[in-house]
Amino acid sequence: MTDTAEFLIIGGGLEGLAIAWSLAERGATEVLVLERATLCSGMTGKSSGVVRCHYGAPSLAAMSWWSVPFFENAAEILGDDLGFRQCGYAVGVGADNLDPLLANVAMQQALGIEVELLGHDEMATLWPGLRVDDFAGFAYEPRGGRGEAYLTGMAFGAAARRRGVRIRQQSPVLELISKGDNVIGVRLADGTEVHAANVVLAAGPWTPGLAATAGVEVDVKAQRAQLLLIDQGEPLPPVPVLSDLVSLQYLCREPNGELLAGNSDHAVPEYIDPDDFVNRADDSTVEKVVGRLERRLPDMPDPRITGSYVGAYDVTPDYNPIIGPAPVPGLFLATGFSGHGFKISPAVGRLVADLLLDGRTDLPNVEAADFRYTRFAEGRPLISPHPYLGAGEMR
Ligand SMILES: Cc1cc2nc3c(=O)[nH]c(=O)nc-3n(C[C@H](O)[C@H](O)[C@H](O)COP(=O)(O)OP(=O)(O)OC[C@H]3O[C@@H](n4cnc5c(N)ncnc54)[C@H](O)[C@@H]3O)c2cc1C
Repeated sequence: MTDTAEFLIIGGGLEGLAIAWSLAERGATEVLVLERATLCSGMTGKSSGVVRCHYGAPSLAAMSWWSVPFFENAAEILGDDLGFRQCGYAVGVGADNLDPLLANVAMQQALGIEVELLGHDEMATLWPGLRVDDFAGFAYEPRGGRGEAYLTGMAFGAAARRRGVRIRQQSPVLELISKGDNVIGVRLADGTEVHAANVVLAAGPWTPGLAATAGVEVDVKAQRAQLLLIDQGEPLPPVPVLSDLVSLQYLCREPNGELLAGNSDHAVPEYIDPDDFVNRADDSTVEKVVGRLERRLPDMPDPRITGSYVGAYDVTPDYNPIIGPAPVPGLFLATGFSGHGFKISPAVGRLVADLLLDGRTDLPNVEAADFRYTRFAEGRPLISPHPYLGAGEMR
């Protein structure tokens, strides 16, 4: 049995579904998504959902900024509430990182991003009880906040279906099928085939294995991310998301008033098998997080860890995504989102649809070539001109 499509997307996670919707929105017909399990059951379900534009690479900052009004108006655009909470986003740095902060904010403001520098008193007002004296400066995005990646992916999926996209769940792709150098479709685990003019590989950390079946090497690894949930002893009031680049952690309020603590120290990354890992934080991480929290929120009334879990960032060597044609005709890559994939997902969908349909994009201030597959082999990775000391390449 052979099915056919014009655009075949492998992976029914947030990115695959955003791409499917955007293609349909731009008028593409015959779009098919193949998902090996259920929609958004991959790393999308683990996402912290932070929305910020604080990036050093202008194209990435611009993709985030383009996505902000999309999140704000999602109910109208996609017909669903995505759970976006515009609680604001703050990043705080120590004295050694003040110059990069100022340079990044200037670049972001030049792109039109709403971001301002904050004083210590203002930050302390936004987050009562936060210790601020060891920060040298803050940047604040009032339109940043947190969304729900699962809800967002499902909303893209539902809206895509309404526009005629076909979505097949429980349909694992075994391998890509090539004719000569061209990728012409996929073989599923049940032996059936789907032939397509364009195959889009958006399978998160599972991408390299599938790409290899067409002889394409994709340098994406699954980097362990450990997250902790903390009950402070009383519900946290609405506070902004905070990237604490002094303690190398990020903190945000969960909808139930708990605190979510994530790690921003990527100096020594650990890689895992995305199909086989222990889904809870290890003891040394718990100890590290407790130490960081005692220092940052010293007055928590009766703190208690309520849970932890583990996800895998699909990271590239420069911690920026690969979005563009693969080195074999017929195959397009949208992978390696390196922990940025939620906030830019609306722009990713649009960018991929533009590139597939027109070969170019008019997304403002986005250089599509920045995300090209070949940049690593060329020795020209996409790196922030103003990196933060100690924070690795993730911003
Ligand atoms: C712990 C964690 C926290 C994060 N926090 C943030 C954040 O705060 N802000 C932010 O912007 N981003 C964040 N991200 C990143 C963001 O959530 C991801 O980039 C995004 O959700 C990835 O979507 P995806 O569709 O590329 O991958 P996935 O959601 O992993 O989807 C890939 C899909 O491909 C399917 N698949 C795999 N193999 C096959 C096959 N053989 N055949 C068919 N289907 C297949 C999988 O089942 C899966 O559903 C975070 C990520 C993690 C892991």
